[in-house]
Amino acid sequence: MEHQQDHDIVIIGAGASGLMAAAAASEHVPGRRILVLEKNPIVGKKLYATGNGRCNFLNRTACPADYYSRERSASSLRWIHAALENMPPSALAKIFHRMGVPAVEQEEGRLYPRSLQAESVVEALLYTIRSAGVSVRTDAAAVVCRRTSGGFVLRDILGNTYTGGCVILATGGKAGLQYGSQGDGYRLADALGHRIVKPIPALTQILLEDADSSLFGVRVRGEVSLWRSREGAVDRIARDEGEIQLTREGLSGICTFNISRFYEIEAGVEYTARLDFFPEYSPEKMHAILAERQQMLADRPVETFLKGMVPGKLADALLREAGVASEGVCGELSSGEVREIAEVSKGYRRRVAGTKSWKDAQVTAGGVSLAEVDPSTLLSKLVPGLFFAGEILDVDGPCGGYNLTWAFASGRIAGTAAGEMVCCG
Ligand SMILES: Cc1cc2nc3c(=O)[nH]c(=O)nc-3n(C[C@H](O)[C@H](O)[C@H](O)COP(=O)(O)OP(=O)(O)OC[C@H]3O[C@@H](n4cnc5c(N)ncnc54)[C@H](O)[C@@H]3O)c2cc1C
Repeated sequence: MEHQQDHDIVIIGAGASGLMAAAAASEHVPGRRILVLEKNPIVGKKLYATGNGRCNFLNRTACPADYYSRERSASSLRWIHAALENMPPSALAKIFHRMGVPAVEQEEGRLYPRSLQAESVVEALLYTIRSAGVSVRTDAAAVVCRRTSGGFVLRDILGNTYTGGCVILATGGKAGLQYGSQGDGYRLADALGHRIVKPIPALTQILLEDADSSLFGVRVRGEVSLWRSREGAVDRIARDEGEIQLTREGLSGICTFNISRFYEIEAGVEYTARLDFFPEYSPEKMHAILAERQQMLADRPVETFLKGMVPGKLADALLREAGVASEGVCGELSSGEVREIAEVSKGYRRRVAGTKSWKDAQVTAGGVSLAEVDPSTLLSKLVPGLFFAGEILDVDGPCGGYNLTWAFASGRIAGTAAGEMVCCG
């Protein structure tokens, strides 16, 4: 026997994807009973922290090829393509414009609200859903979500129960867990029979063994790459260029964040980070430049050899790394020493000790397996009426507005499809 449900759609999680899903569903089926459950006392807590409070909410150039799935199969990449092909960033920018939040573009296609305030984005989403009659319940962490004959029964941590015809799981992943996303969604999805691809922290700092703490605070442009060695085979698995920031424990900066998702703890596997402080030169050219420099600066103290080419603290560290004594003058350096300095300048290496944890990570790599979700609706292939949106799915992107683009795009897709299911049965 089918029971009357209290709500047509229940959305778990009032983050970027959940709020957008509520906006899309309420637009699609005005007047229907839509409920959003949020475990925090406020909605959009993480959104306020994004883009250093300015919210880099979209990337104008984002396209399916920019995204990853931890399963890394050809079918998961096709899945991402199928999900995103009809929801380009331009369409999302128009939606925000209609909500009263025009975008302004900064470097590399990054879009921010014109106000440069994350709160504008949260307020616009909240105003949109409240004025459409969506109910929002805060301090309501969903702990149970069970499929019944006519829909779903949910229970929150305080023991309140809710029923809904369909459910959108938009709980985020585990990254930035102080903002509320603590892996609850994986437990709920797992209990409903979904497979979870092991989540790992991404867009985070890389920790190094024997990090040179004297380099703390150095910011320098260069290339950072991650190398994996297993059973004697060494492969470069990721690289990026940009501003490298050196910390007491290792590496930070956008290019480091972008490669961090490729590190994972595996038995018998070691990772090395390599820094190239002169990616614009080939190894031969670098050596030739330093050999010429040695002639030019022959009377200058050795300690000044690299100064002017890289920040002072890094110049000192590279000489130490090359095993060159800082006494004497540049003209006295042997050709072997000059070659060694050229080599460490283009290949400064340290073993990777790990990455920073969930608290520091901006995004989760891994999550609900894409194979069990329909890409055009984000409807579960296993559980009728169950949708997913946002970071809970096994999709992640680089820094620069790509992850919020995914959260908003997937929220829009799931919210519209849930609305469609409600009106068409
Ligand atoms: C500090 C920081 C800065 C970032 N800056 C950017 C940026 O500028 N640009 C960009 O593109 N990306 C950025 N990101 C990443 C981006 O914020 C996330 O990818 C995005 O918010 C994911 O959206 P979501 O809706 O899937 O999850 P979240 O935004 O994490 O929302 C999930 C919501 O679900 C709630 N929830 C969890 N479990 C339950 C439960 N059991 N019951 C009820 N509610 C629950 C959580 O409290 C949370 O409010 C940043 C991330 C961090 C941590």
